[in-house]
Amino acid sequence: MKPYKEMSREELLELKDELKKQYKMMRGLNLSLDMSRGKPCIEQLDISMEMMDILNSSSDLTCEDGMDCRNYGVLDGLPEAKKLIGDMIEVPAENLIIYGNSSLNIMYDAISRSMTHGVMGSTPWCCLDKVKFLCPVPGYDRHFAITEYFGIEMINIPMTDEGPDMDLVEKYVSEDEMVKGIWCVPKYSNPQGITYSDRVVKRFARLKPAAKDFRIYWDNAYSMHHLYEDEQENILEILEESKKAGNPDIVYKFSSTSKISFPGSGVAAIATSPNNLVDIKKQLAIQTIGHDKVNQLRHVRYYKDINGIIAHMKKHADILRPKFETVLEVLETELGGLEIASWHKPKGGYFISFDTLNGCAKEVVERAQKAGVKLTSAGATYPYGKDPNDSNIRIAPSFPPAKDLKTAMELFTLCVKLASIERYLTMLEEKA
Ligand code: PMP
Repeated sequence: MKPYKEMSREELLELKDELKKQYKMMRGLNLSLDMSRGKPCIEQLDISMEMMDILNSSSDLTCEDGMDCRNYGVLDGLPEAKKLIGDMIEVPAENLIIYGNSSLNIMYDAISRSMTHGVMGSTPWCCLDKVKFLCPVPGYDRHFAITEYFGIEMINIPMTDEGPDMDLVEKYVSEDEMVKGIWCVPKYSNPQGITYSDRVVKRFARLKPAAKDFRIYWDNAYSMHHLYEDEQENILEILEESKKAGNPDIVYKFSSTSKISFPGSGVAAIATSPNNLVDIKKQLAIQTIGHDKVNQLRHVRYYKDINGIIAHMKKHADILRPKFETVLEVLETELGGLEIASWHKPKGGYFISFDTLNGCAKEVVERAQKAGVKLTSAGATYPYGKDPNDSNIRIAPSFPPAKDLKTAMELFTLCVKLASIERYLTMLEEKA
């Protein structure tokens, strides 16, 4: 089929009629599929079930340094859990604090603490006229929700194929003292699956912030989440790079086992410089006596070491890879050559980022929802839910059963075609 932009009004109208019939037929299938969030599917949850057998009433819950994990104690995590998570995110155990079940929670806490108490003795952000954050776009909606909740002004930074536009990042960070942070998902980014290049990581490490309390919020959520064993993407370790660049305190690095073991019931951590750790622990010691050590122990005894996690992630990849491939195949078969959309082909992570013609994303998501396929809301990948082009849609292939995914994507591509035809018809009308 030829590109839509080369079609006459009559050809477009004829095609629209045909596609509308197909859409009506698909609505009759009464689909009910959720592709809105990056949730692991049931088979993925099942592969971690043996973790439930690791501890029982006869287990010895003493950790390596003799601490009884059933009781209070240990603010920053069991030594063996710090070693395991440290190996996972390539950071020495002494640079880590293990928290509870959620890395997003740690990010929220970091912003909240900066608001009320400042960063390492600097003025609390709540006492400033304005605080700004840089937001590479498209990005993760829950990051943007946190900064919006605290009234922090968000500035869009376009993503390139190797990470955020660093010319812009450097300009804002070095010139504007109100810029206090940037959200980054540096590996298999949410939603584009982009891994930051060495050049980009080095430029982050060498930033010269106008604000001494500027921090890079380095959310390493997908560090282990490769889809292909022979095409793994890797990234320079940012804490090491920032230390080398004479900027040791500039990074907070976050991670969790949410999409490794059980989402919402994993182990989460922050890694950062010794100075930042001291600052954070002042708050932490007030906030809690200690996090869930039994869960930390369960994770360590189940995975044993980093090789256990690597082997486990291969099982996840074996389930996820065919799903990603199904989505990409349908996109290529149905939309290839029509010049009405573009999409990323990630090598890891949880999402496929899709762009419609400008002004079509909302309509596509609404149409798909009416026919029973729930997608992430259009606009969600931008601060304030406002995609200036109304074009980006985040596709999450993990959750629906493999057998339904093809149908869901056929419906999705149908919705993209219909919205694009309408866009072209409007443009022709405007020209006439
Ligand atoms: N960061 C990113 C980039 C994510 O995509 C997700 C999960 N969708 C999270 C954080 C949430 O992590 P956690 O469960 O550890 O809070």
